Amino acid sequence: MNNFTFEELNLSEEIKKAIADMGFEQPSPIQAKAIPYILQGRDIIGQAQTGTGKTAAFGMPILDIVNSQDKSLQVLVLCPTRELAIQVAGEIRKLAKYKHDIKTLPVYGGQPIDRQIKALKKGVQIVIGTPGRVIDHINRKTLKMGNVKMVVLDEADEMLDMGFRDDIEEILQKVPENRQTIFFSATMPKAILDLTKKYQKNPEIVKVVHRELTVPNIEQFYIETREKNKLEVLTRLIDIYNPKLSVIFCNTKKKVDELVGDLQARGYFADALHGDLKQAQRDNVMSKFRNGTIEILVATDVAARGIDVDDVECVFNYDFPQDDEYYVHRIGRTGRAGRKGKAFSFVSGKEMYKLRDIKKYTKTKINRHEIPSLSDVEEI
Ligand code: ADP
Ligand code: MG
Repeated sequence: MNNFTFEELNLSEEIKKAIADMGFEQPSPIQAKAIPYILQGRDIIGQAQTGTGKTAAFGMPILDIVNSQDKSLQVLVLCPTRELAIQVAGEIRKLAKYKHDIKTLPVYGGQPIDRQIKALKKGVQIVIGTPGRVIDHINRKTLKMGNVKMVVLDEADEMLDMGFRDDIEEILQKVPENRQTIFFSATMPKAILDLTKKYQKNPEIVKVVHRELTVPNIEQFYIETREKNKLEVLTRLIDIYNPKLSVIFCNTKKKVDELVGDLQARGYFADALHGDLKQAQRDNVMSKFRNGTIEILVATDVAARGIDVDDVECVFNYDFPQDDEYYVHRIGRTGRAGRKGKAFSFVSGKEMYKLRDIKKYTKTKINRHEIPSLSDVEEI
């Protein structure tokens, strides 16, 4: 808990009404710190861990900055994946509930471009897009940058990790220079600071640092197990904790598909999310997961980046993450918006050193969890 209130933030009545409807009671620390600068027109670099409300930190002020009478494109938000573009657009749309004259649109690869062109023609002031598709629209002149007064790079670290640097630079070079440029990121690697120097003007660094990189309401466990026993251990844990929704991470698409098959064969409502699926399939899986028709989402790291579904109660690292930062991103899929969550990581004896690295990196406790015995499961 903190002492900030929405009253102090100079947001319009329409926004305050919308956030009340969304159940937000007070601004998160990154929102309280970032919003005043954004409303003043300053460039900022906003850094805070995942799940801390960075979307609304820019979503609320941009809606007050957009001139609703002007139907041209005024704000461009760039996101690393199509799922995130859809999710961010959804959140902004909710925030815009009482701003009837502001039109928003997500544009991303995988959706027919004609549909997007048609929607853009109606006049859209805020576009939330993935870099490749945005460039495509710029080249077709279906997105005109001439009146853009603000660019937001959401999950900037992810976008650079995914190799979008050239695309981002190409886009930023096409937006008028007197724009406001805003970066949000969970981490601040050097590559972001390089971009900052090149494209931002006197940016204010707005940082909410916690000693630990992970969110404190996530209980973290590791389970020492061999590869061949993982499926059995996983299903026992699911049976015991009975999470409403859970996300399971594997390191490869092939592994994701195999595990989905194994879980479905045992009667679990599981499905896959990875980069080989067509966009329509991915949208379908995500909406089924959101409404609970699918209870277990098995995913690769890239596909699940930034996914924000409130009721994810457990995250399983079925395969141990390949990178410390992946670990933080993965377990951040649970414990959203102050809720409690659990994260379980399967480790083999050979991987124990990686677990030690992660403990050092996150400076948090990861407790040993015994393999549940069959009698534990049967007692339920
Ligand atoms: P981040 O981008 O920092 O990882 P998100 O913007 O996805 O986090 O927000 C995580 C969740 O917190 C979302 O479900 C969002 O609706 C919710 N949220 C954002 N701001 C607030 C707030 N002030 N009060 C309560 N919940 C909030
Ligand atoms: Mg985010």
